[in-house]
Amino acid sequence: MTSKPAYQNMQLQPIAGQWRVGSAGRNLNVTNPFTGEQLLSVAMATREDLDEAYRQAQKAQIEWAAMGPTARGDVMRRAVAIFDERRDEIIDWLIRESGSTRIKAQIEWGSARAITQEAASLPGRCHGRILPSDMPGKESRVYRAPLGVVGVISPWNFPLHLSARSVSPALALGNAVVIKPASDTPVTGGLLLARIFEEAGLPAGVLSVVVGAGSDIGDAFVEHPVPAFISFTGSTPVGRNIGRIAAGGEHLKHVALELGGNSPFVVLADADVDAAVNAAVVGKFLHQGQICMAINRIIVEQPLLEEFTRRFVERVKALPYGDPSKAETVVGPVINAKQLVGLKDKVRIAQQEGAVLLVGGEPQGNVMPPHVFSNVSADMELAREEIFGPLVGIQTARDAQHALELANSTEYGLSSAVFTRDIARGVAFAQGIRAGMTHINDMPVNDEPNAPFGGEKNSGLGRFNGDWAIEEFTTDQWITVQHAPRPYPF
Ligand code: NAP
Ligand code: MG
Repeated sequence: MTSKPAYQNMQLQPIAGQWRVGSAGRNLNVTNPFTGEQLLSVAMATREDLDEAYRQAQKAQIEWAAMGPTARGDVMRRAVAIFDERRDEIIDWLIRESGSTRIKAQIEWGSARAITQEAASLPGRCHGRILPSDMPGKESRVYRAPLGVVGVISPWNFPLHLSARSVSPALALGNAVVIKPASDTPVTGGLLLARIFEEAGLPAGVLSVVVGAGSDIGDAFVEHPVPAFISFTGSTPVGRNIGRIAAGGEHLKHVALELGGNSPFVVLADADVDAAVNAAVVGKFLHQGQICMAINRIIVEQPLLEEFTRRFVERVKALPYGDPSKAETVVGPVINAKQLVGLKDKVRIAQQEGAVLLVGGEPQGNVMPPHVFSNVSADMELAREEIFGPLVGIQTARDAQHALELANSTEYGLSSAVFTRDIARGVAFAQGIRAGMTHINDMPVNDEPNAPFGGEKNSGLGRFNGDWAIEEFTTDQWITVQHAPRPYPF
């Protein structure tokens, strides 16, 4: 229940401790992807604004890190309470700005809240070590310290959660943060979090948000000398470039890259078909398929192909699509007209390449009805490329070995799933998949605040959540103390 007045002046950005407008003299118009209505107009930030934000973050970080673990945890706990108090307001923004269905907005609210709650425990779980030393009289210590300033770049699909999963742990562990949200979602990707943390008592200047196009301020955001770490979530081409700049630019820095996916969903011949169909429907169509972990390829072992396809198609045909604010809507709008054009191209190319359309329909506005194709092969675009929309193709595997080959025939390695009644077989199959995450008898869309989230191959570098966030957002310093005179060799 919202018990407080809604946040005001959402067009302002917190830059270096001040809520103000960006200095670019150009505005970003933020629209509702379903209605087309303009939600707000944000004056964009310049490289100078960004520089101010980073410099102030560097100063503010020192005092913030010096606060005790309980005090930093308290800010996180208060933020969690604000997530609860402002639940309706947050969900409403997710529906209006990012085209989330109500179902997805509730899930995203829950994920952002959960990672912030997990973050509250991180300051107390972050510890150094004392190592044995071969050197007589030496004490060998490892201190764990915050990195300093962290730059976070997030995408538009789960803007609140994918910003929060970097921002909350990074802050809790004593870092300062500057966020560059996606241009489609400046509010849910940054401004809302900044309001929440300010209300929770985070000192001014520790968290800044700069709103600007990636093509405009992106390089400056990554190249800047202040941030010691860039946490990027988005597409593989942009991520690759960011990795190049972070590792090969003038100022070397840590980088986490959470990039694209092409999740296989494998149904082996001994699977529970009903369970597999139920998982496939949600794992494909939640948020219109615009999830990095979403099912991109359904791979069914021959004996179940006909039955799985029939039942899946039946379920998909009944999915309600349209207005995302309605409680029952499953498939809402895609984020913008450009994405829709790309998806229409994919439908056309799939048919040209010989895929058979089993379920389809004409888009209405930015709402694309769910599409299912059969007779898909590994060399078709639909199988090779990340779809990021409500389309899916079904492939046939001759046997389990073939299913594994198909599952692995991708440059990506984020999430994956396999259905079988034989758990030992499922685990062996999972271990054969080169991916950061594999779920047996479930959909590939899974994210828990204490479990390692991340990809292999071209899906990225690094892991988020729980203990892995401590690894990512802190660094080790080896400090030794020589207590007795050391017997030097000369
Ligand atoms: P994107 O185009 O790569 O954009 C992601 C972010 O990068 C946005 O904030 C964007 O800003 C910014 N950006 C663009 N060009 C940049 C540059 N040259 N330098 C620095 N930043 C730049 O990705 P998207 O279309 O928003 O998101 C979809 C992709 O993200 C999919 O491939 C999906 O799989 C992936 N994704 C991965 C994960 C994961 O955890 N692995 C999670 C979600 C999404 P602008 O909006 O201003 O261009
Ligand atoms: Mg928009």
